[in-house]
Amino acid sequence: MIPAHMARIESIVEEAEDVRSFAFRFVGEAPATHLGLPGQFAPFRFRIGDGHHERFYAISSLPQLGEAPCFTVKRKPDGLVSGHCMDRLAPGDLVAVGPARGGFRLQPGNAPVVFLAGGIGIAPIFPLIRFALLCTQRPVAVVLFERNAARQAFLPALQGLAVRHRGRMSLHGAFGAGPPAMDRALAGVLDPTSAQHVYMCGPAGFLDAAGACVRAAGHPASRIFANDRDAYIAGYLAQPPHAAAAAALAL
Ligand SMILES: Cc1cc2nc3c(=O)[nH]c(=O)nc-3n(C[C@H](O)[C@H](O)[C@H](O)COP(=O)(O)OP(=O)(O)OC[C@H]3O[C@@H](n4cnc5c(N)ncnc54)[C@H](O)[C@@H]3O)c2cc1C
Repeated sequence: MIPAHMARIESIVEEAEDVRSFAFRFVGEAPATHLGLPGQFAPFRFRIGDGHHERFYAISSLPQLGEAPCFTVKRKPDGLVSGHCMDRLAPGDLVAVGPARGGFRLQPGNAPVVFLAGGIGIAPIFPLIRFALLCTQRPVAVVLFERNAARQAFLPALQGLAVRHRGRMSLHGAFGAGPPAMDRALAGVLDPTSAQHVYMCGPAGFLDAAGACVRAAGHPASRIFANDRDAYIAGYLAQPPHAAAAAALAL
């Protein structure tokens, strides 16, 4: 990969069924911009047996605000790296972390923001929600799509945020909701007349269904921000690192 920096796993948090977050600390100094902006993703390289394996993960905390950097992994059935993370990765272990990049980040302005998270798509959305609440005055609505509440990562933390920011943040769980129920889950949340910005992240099928609902509700494409993983990978190496990441944080 990448100009990677070695990092040591410091602690592990069980976020939900088959979902764990890993806090890490760089060994030596990494550039302040290495962890990018809230919502961005980084390549991680793991040593497994005799080989090295690289996968992308979102930075799921806010190192920009002084927190320990974290990534959050959901187990993929029979997945090599996610299985390694869930079953063997332990505090003290080393991983190599490349620079976080990508266009999935909070756009400037005062528009209300709506976050739609499908499954582990919550990993980049969680820091975006917290960033919007902590660093802007924008109203925030969050809709979670997961098979059931036990599988929903960050649910207690999100519920706590909704209580702390009552009146400014609303939280909706569409557990078990498939595409027909998606219309209903979004009906009370989407309001194109308020010029909302809508952010969505999740598997390709989720993005297709959610995007169709949001467009049908009358939102123009210019206010819809989706993380398309394939496009992200294709664009990753073509993008310069965010040298101005820290400056851009002052939205
Ligand atoms: C932009 C982006 C962000 C992501 N963010 C998250 C996140 O925050 N949390 C999360 O849980 N998951 C995230 N993922 C998915 C994650 O990167 C892994 O695909 C997932 O953990 C499953 O990996 P696995 O090794 O367990 O599964 P596997 O099925 O073993 O591998 C998954 C895929 O990795 C590819 N692959 C296999 N071998 C290699 C190799 N040697 N080098 C490169 N690719 C290979 C193959 O396409 C394979 O289908 C993200 C993916 C992308 C593209």
